[in-house]
Formats: sequence, C-alpha cells, structure tokens
Amino acid sequence: MEEKAARRRLVLVPVPAQGHISPMMQLAKALHLKGFSITVAQTKFNYFSPSDDFTDFQFVTIQETLPKTDFKNLGPLQFLLKLNKECQVGFKDCLGQLLLRQSNVCIIYDEFMYFAGATAKEFKLPNIIFSTTSATAFVCRSVFDKLFPNNVLDPLKELRARKEELVPEFHPLRYKDLPIYRNIVDKQTASSVIINTASCLESASLSSLQQQQLEIPVYPIGPLHMVASAPTSLLEENKSCIEWLNKQKKDSVIFISLGSLALMEISEVIRPGSVSGSEWTESLSEEFGKIVSERGYIVKWAPQKEVLAHPAVGGFWSHCGWNSTLESIGEGVPMICRPFSGDQKVNARFLECVWKIGVQVEGELNRGVVERAVRRLMVSEEGEEMRKRALSLKERLRASVRDGGSSHNSLDEFVHFVKRL
Ligand code: UDP
Repeated sequence: MEEKAARRRLVLVPVPAQGHISPMMQLAKALHLKGFSITVAQTKFNYFSPSDDFTDFQFVTIQETLPKTDFKNLGPLQFLLKLNKECQVGFKDCLGQLLLRQSNVCIIYDEFMYFAGATAKEFKLPNIIFSTTSATAFVCRSVFDKLFPNNVLDPLKELRARKEELVPEFHPLRYKDLPIYRNIVDKQTASSVIINTASCLESASLSSLQQQQLEIPVYPIGPLHMVASAPTSLLEENKSCIEWLNKQKKDSVIFISLGSLALMEISEVIRPGSVSGSEWTESLSEEFGKIVSERGYIVKWAPQKEVLAHPAVGGFWSHCGWNSTLESIGEGVPMICRPFSGDQKVNARFLECVWKIGVQVEGELNRGVVERAVRRLMVSEEGEEMRKRALSLKERLRASVRDGGSSHNSLDEFVHFVKRL
C-alpha cells in the first residue's frame, strides 16, 4: 500500500505569476520530499525555468496564445478569466498524454486556475485546491458572496457607500478591505484545500472555513517558504544589495518592495514595468536619485527573503502581498503597509490590528505621511513594541513548521489523505 501510494503522481497547476509560482514550487518540493512524483503544468506565459533543485520533476507546457501585454491591458480579473478559457484545451491535451503513460494521478491546482478542476472532473481524477492567499482572504470571498448575492447588481457601488463601516462579525475588516472576488471553489469536485498559512496566524478564519464554509478538509501547511525552500524567481536576483546591507547598522534600513504585480501612481514607485511608459529609475528626479544613492541602494529585483533576513533591515515598506507578508513575519520584520488591491488590504489590516506588527498608510502619499510612518516604525517606542511582537511571531512560525508543529502535522495529515484518495 505504502509503495503504491508513494508512486502517486501529483500534477501541479500554478497561476503564471511570481506570487503564485513560488508557493506552488515550494509545495511541490515539500511533497516530492514526501515521496510523490511531481509534474508541473505551466503556461508559456511567464514560464518558470526550473533550476537543478527540480531535476526529478517533470515540466509540461500548456499551449495557449496569451499575448504578454494582456495582463496590463486587461487587469487581473479579466486576465484570469481569459487565462482559464485559453488553457482549457491545452491542459486537456497535456493530461491526456500523461494518462497514456501514468495512472494514479491527482491534480493540485491554484484556486484561480479553476479550469484544471473542471478538467480533473471530466477525467474523473481526484483534485485538490491550493490557495496562495491567506485563510482570511479565502473566508472574505465567501463573505462577499453572502453580502452581495448575484441579484445585487452593483456590489462596487454598495461597497463604496459603506466603505468605512466594519463588516458584521468580521472584525477588524471594513467593507473597503474586502477583496472583490467571488468564491470559485468547486466544493462538489475538490476533495480538500491546502492553504499557505499557519494556524498561529489565522486560527479563527481557519476554524470558520473548516466548520462553517467548506465541507472538505482544510490543510494549513505554511509558510511554505519555511517548509521547503527552493529558488523560484522568474527574474534574476541582484545580490549586490547584500554587500551594501553588510555595511549598515542593525535595524537601520527600511526595505521597500511592492511585489511583482501592483500597478500604481508614478509618484509611488520605481519597480521596472510598474508604471506604463517607464522602464526604470528615469521617473526619479536627479536630486532624489543622488540622495538615494548616498543613503540607500536600489536594485531591479532583490533577493527578498535574504534581504529580510539581514540584521540591518529593521522594517519593510510593502504592498502586503501574502508571500511578502509571510516572508516578513518569518524574519521578525515589522512592516509599513501600503496595500493596493485584492487580498493585500486584508493582510494590511491584520498586520496593523490583529498581529499589531504593522503601520498602515492610507490615502494620498506625501513627505509628511511617509516621514510619520517611518518614524513610528523605526524610532518610536511603539515601533519597538511592534518589533518585539514580530520577533515572537517569527518564533511561533518557526515552531509551527518544526517536528510536532501545527503546519508540520498538517502536511503529514495531508500526505496521508492524498495517499488514500
Ligand atoms: N520578490 C523578490 N524580489 C523583489 C520583489 C519581490 O524576490 O524585488 C518576491 C517576494 O519575495 C515574494 C514575491 O516576489 O515572494 C511577491 O509575492 P507577493 O505575494 O508578496 O506579491 P505579488 O507579486 O503576488 O503581488
């Protein structure tokens, strides 16, 4: 029985975006270490070129014809809809080919790649949903469905009207913090849900998911970057910033990174490609560029986890993507939260009001607002308290992925579950 189960092949289907590819590849690595064979089905769009760490994995390409510009032109929601439509036929081909040579196949798909769930159902294969967002963001989507059933014509108008109010029974989230997505989990088809989180971070949301919202098992097995690390970057990391950090005092540097997708005003950003018509630092004035080169260091793409782990880094100015949030907490670094969209506002709210390790910056940005946030986090007593809480949360996260910890146990339970599917 054990031997047959160990040969089970898991076909993983990530969303082609950095914040989804990384946790999916970390999950793949963790499951491979548990004895499963792994196939990763990727789109041509944003193809992840695997390093030697993944030599035992099989990679297959889902044929699609998405133009690279679609993501920016369409925006994330329309892009996802198009992606799901485009991939259907190609994925069926991949799976058909695989099933000629292999039985005992199980699909694990990113919740936003729901075409893979539909295809698994057609082929009568067991399938599992992987959520790369927080458990709370997952709950939010059900809350959104409940608050705004299909017959509400314009949920956005409703949301805007009540934006500062607290959502009933969902403290501390306000209407404006809710991600505007409906739930796309097909409870009829999927046999379980894996979430990249740890119960010490989100026990209430996890209980609510498990006890009230989903009738299938939920496995919180994160933070996955602490469970199974592997190089997963789409872009080349510029490590020269580590040498610069080596020359800085402890806790004296704020790391600024706004993820891989957020689109924002030119005054807020310099990440290449994040402002249309601008490639790189040309948006900085000469004077500002000079100040930055004297007192800071800019790279196009940083080795983020390494930077956050560096003793010189005392704070993280972030858009609060879920991976960045987990990576920062995992190193005990408190945050300045500047969320843009999707689940980022939920994460920011939790950082500020639940874990109390973040300062959220809302409204228009100007020098004064930035200065106050930086002072609060880096040099005030309140900031010092946040740093202490962040360090204690880091220890709790580390304990949860160690032998006997909640995520460690949950991964073992999941392995047991999959072997019996
Ligand atoms: N990242 C990185 N270097 C950078 C910026 C981002 O390695 O210069 C990584 C970061 O460590 C994280 C991912 O990109 O793992 C971004 O994921 P997140 O969920 O935070 O945000 P998204 O890009 O999905 O909005």
